[in-house]
Amino acid sequence: MSHPVAVSWDKPFWESAAQGRLVAQQCRDCGRLQHYPRPACIDCLSQSRDWIRLSGRGTVWSFSIVRQVADPAFAGEVPFALVDVELEEGLRITSRLDDTSVEIGDRVQVTMRAIATGLCLPYFERLPDAL
Ligand SMILES: [Zn+2]
Repeated sequence: MSHPVAVSWDKPFWESAAQGRLVAQQCRDCGRLQHYPRPACIDCLSQSRDWIRLSGRGTVWSFSIVRQVADPAFAGEVPFALVDVELEEGLRITSRLDDTSVEIGDRVQVTMRAIATGLCLPYFERLPDAL
């Protein structure tokens, strides 16, 4: 299994993830939030940005249940849900959720999971309806 490798413009994302925080780039010139990290703003191409901590809460916008994997490294992890989550801040993030009874519109919360030394990925968990 190959792991993500940090590059200059996304290093703060990985460093924050390792500390349990989900962050996104916010353009200093036009205010646009964006995820995934990119070297420039997708609206105005500015390379000036801040890193904003996100709530990590959102709703399931779409999902697919993964039952077979091409990479044997994931063989012990199926089935799982591949989810597109619309975060409270309006960004969408694609990630995983282990509960395959997930439904569109379910409320979810990010949880950082260590997959290698110093490397954490954002996964999601369902929240009770009352939250
Ligand atoms: Zn911008």
